[in-house]
Amino acid sequence: MSIGLLWFRQDLRLADNPALHAALAECSQIIPVFIDEDGGNSGLQPAQSAASHVWLHHNLLDLQQRLKAKGATLVLRRGAALSCLQQLQQETGATHLYWNRRYDPRGIACDTAIKQQLAAECNLRSFNGALLSEPWTVLKKDETPYRVFTAFWKAKLKQGLATLPLPEPARITGPTQRVSSLNLDELAYLPAVRWDVAMMQHWQVGEVAAHRALDVLIEQRIATYKARRDFPAEAGTSQLSPHLHFGTLSPRQLWHYAQAYLAENPAAEEGVRCFLSEIGWREFAYYLLYHFPHMVDGALDQRFNVFPWREAEDYAADLQRWQQGQTGLPIIDAGMRQLYATGWMHNRVRMIVASLLTKNLLVPWQAGEQWFRATLVDADLASNTMGWQWVAGCGADAAPYFRIFNPVLQSEKFDKAGDYIRRWVPELRDRDNKQIHQPRERGDGVKGYPLALVDLKASRQRALERFGVIKKG
Ligand SMILES: Cc1cc2nc3c(=O)[nH]c(=O)nc-3n(C[C@H](O)[C@H](O)[C@H](O)COP(=O)(O)OP(=O)(O)OC[C@H]3O[C@@H](n4cnc5c(N)ncnc54)[C@H](O)[C@@H]3O)c2cc1C
Repeated sequence: MSIGLLWFRQDLRLADNPALHAALAECSQIIPVFIDEDGGNSGLQPAQSAASHVWLHHNLLDLQQRLKAKGATLVLRRGAALSCLQQLQQETGATHLYWNRRYDPRGIACDTAIKQQLAAECNLRSFNGALLSEPWTVLKKDETPYRVFTAFWKAKLKQGLATLPLPEPARITGPTQRVSSLNLDELAYLPAVRWDVAMMQHWQVGEVAAHRALDVLIEQRIATYKARRDFPAEAGTSQLSPHLHFGTLSPRQLWHYAQAYLAENPAAEEGVRCFLSEIGWREFAYYLLYHFPHMVDGALDQRFNVFPWREAEDYAADLQRWQQGQTGLPIIDAGMRQLYATGWMHNRVRMIVASLLTKNLLVPWQAGEQWFRATLVDADLASNTMGWQWVAGCGADAAPYFRIFNPVLQSEKFDKAGDYIRRWVPELRDRDNKQIHQPRERGDGVKGYPLALVDLKASRQRALERFGVIKKG
């Protein structure tokens, strides 16, 4: 009899789960386990955010129920992963341990230590459940990693992505003995003051919900994705990011559904290719994090380590107004309020608000990254650090330092009728379609909405001068 521990991490699904698939092929009994490494203060996982903890709670609930329906019970433990797994192995006599790989430096260090420590007791096997292909399989001719997205994506596409997604198992046989577990509520992922209830009205969590969202994408959005993806008032994008982060959907499933749709709808090629290249950006983010682990908290372009950002005591009040959606710049405030209310912000607006913070306000990108990490349901170490560094100009394939988004022009272009602003900044609802993009002027009669935090022209000039120092460096 072989007993396999199946360690769930960011792969909270039953279909297309290579670790689960292998465990079922090799073991007669499976013990699925989730470990709360943060709560155990192991310091091994990057801190989860408040909003994504809420998502995680609902996701674990869904996984518990789905596993139960198949015959297995999810075991919840808290603490350092190594000691939790050692303990479980001793308690159950497990002979095998399975997981899908992670790519952040602390996760890799943790998994390496577990492999060393448990190798004598357990047959350990790890798999790729999170990416289209492993980061170490795509390198330049000189064997160094790519830093430019288009070249990276071209090389990756050349590899071919032939393997089909794995099916959902019909049955998962659990152990004969009872294995002790914490209750989900004991992980305390839900806040004491229940702000999460309003936020979660915007979302459906779990594997079945992920597939419903995928169907909506394929049936209603993917064909027009390229044309509609930049307009925040529209439902033009997939909103699959939290599902991809927690692994209720795999990129391989997405890839194959999209390709199957394309085979039957060749006219949708532009939309499908554009959508898949966004999945490519996600791959690039994980690739960069794997090859350049210092990106977690330092600039990829190390010339930026000496960049003269403003000091914390100097920018604290500005940062707070930005966080609260009270900058007096309509598109910025709409985005920051959408984020706070729903745990998600449209990609175009993420770029605009990040540019304002890092360029016009000269606040270090890490402060913005931290706020996004605390408030996004899709908060993801790889994509968030890449996104922030791209906008700040210090990442791979970064926007050039002189590209400073003008929030008013961006708003006029991508929210022409002001629908997005009206939805999130009701104080401006009665302004006409031209005025709605502009900061207020003194005496204009708008009540309850602040004057602009910063003069866009002067702050742009200040940013250009400071970023010019890097250019010369
Ligand atoms: C400053 C900044 C911070 C960001 N932080 C995060 C983050 O913490 N988590 C996160 O998942 N994405 C992040 N992004 C990327 C992007 O904004 C979101 O992935 C996207 O808005 C999610 O919405 P969607 O699922 O509708 O995307 P779609 O447009 O439908 O794209 C499909 C999927 O592709 C991936 N994707 C799309 N664009 C990007 C991108 N630029 N980088 C990486 N992956 C991408 C996502 O997994 C997304 O779900 C950030 C972008 C910026 C500019």
